Amino acid sequence: MKKDVTLKGYFGRFGGTFAPETLMPALNEVQHAFDAFMKDQKIQSEFKDLLEKYNGRETPLYFASRLTKKLGGAKIYLKREDLNHTGAHKITNALGQALLARYMGKKRLIAETGAGQHGVATATAAALLGMECDIYMGTVDMQRQRPNVFRMNLLGTRVVPVDSGGKTLKDAVNEAMRDWSKTVRTTHYAFGSALGPHPFPTIVREFQSIIGKETKMQILKVENRLPDTIVACVGGGSNAIGIFTPFLDDKDVKLVGVEAGGCGLDSNKHAVRLTHSDLSRTGILHGSFSYVLQDKNGQISDTQSISAGLDYSGVGPQHSFLHESGRVDYTYATDTEALDAFKMLCEYEGIIPALESSHAVAYAVKNAPLMPSGSIMVINLSGRGDKDIFTVADYLGINI
Ligand SMILES: *Cc1c(COP(=O)(O)O)cnc(C)c1O
Repeated sequence: MKKDVTLKGYFGRFGGTFAPETLMPALNEVQHAFDAFMKDQKIQSEFKDLLEKYNGRETPLYFASRLTKKLGGAKIYLKREDLNHTGAHKITNALGQALLARYMGKKRLIAETGAGQHGVATATAAALLGMECDIYMGTVDMQRQRPNVFRMNLLGTRVVPVDSGGKTLKDAVNEAMRDWSKTVRTTHYAFGSALGPHPFPTIVREFQSIIGKETKMQILKVENRLPDTIVACVGGGSNAIGIFTPFLDDKDVKLVGVEAGGCGLDSNKHAVRLTHSDLSRTGILHGSFSYVLQDKNGQISDTQSISAGLDYSGVGPQHSFLHESGRVDYTYATDTEALDAFKMLCEYEGIIPALESSHAVAYAVKNAPLMPSGSIMVINLSGRGDKDIFTVADYLGINI
């Protein structure tokens, strides 16, 4: 397999730094600071301590015995990222980036948010470190995700409404980039996924790869061997690249990324960018070259998914590379399949999973029974589903 570190920030032909001239010095500064940050033992031990005592790392690797029995076939383990503080893997990256910002002498954090999860994680990290924080959010998303807007406010963060374009995530990223280009001296932009211009896809991957490192040690301890399959959902791609990274060179471990199939591929209402890359095209979105859902004139397509966290037309550049190199298999689960998997995990394991994570569970529901008994599948359970109960009730036609 071709290694990723060739030209600056390229994964094969994907990635790069497609940013306005005004941001280039800032991106360079972040790159240099990040290199120093990773080598600085003092800050690394502070980070480790926070992850342990504040986040609740390491997160457990849990053998889902009732789900395994129900499905037959592979033994299913859940990597319990839902047990992180604030309920998902995102806080690990947010804390890392907040520490990095402080390390650079910046006093203010900004970020984009769609559903509000990354906004809440960043607001949490900002409160913890006593930093100023502004979160850009489309007005449509603000309306849909009012509880998260309130959460951010409670944490002392200002939510900046974005009224341009479709008034959702893509527009929020544009506005946050605009802010950053004017405020780079005081401000760090904490990207929420393995996206954006170099060095962000690498920074987010490095912070999240603790998921895979823990998983590897944990599975070796209980099973004395590596898993046969690891599966994760793919929005921007941070929880997936986090669990995959330490296994990329273990060729016998099958890695599977699950995208949001929404209402199905024929409906045009989905966020499938890689599985059928004929539906998608390569292009530049938010600072890097990757697969992007767009029409033949290059207009970014609208996406749809029951899970807000997977509802994005771009995808992290390293995933585009891993798709083309064939190291990772990409597939999708529809809204209906994700909902069925959601219910199954509730009823068989007493765990209410995030709708995003339910897409990975849906893969297991379909594929674990086809694997020989004694084989091992690990699902990255990226988050908990408390935030999703109203959406689920709506889909089921239940008034709560
Ligand atoms: C945001 C989110 C995702 C999608 O983001 P990635 O960067 O693809 O990991 C997945 N699961 C949960 C619980 C999320 O909050």
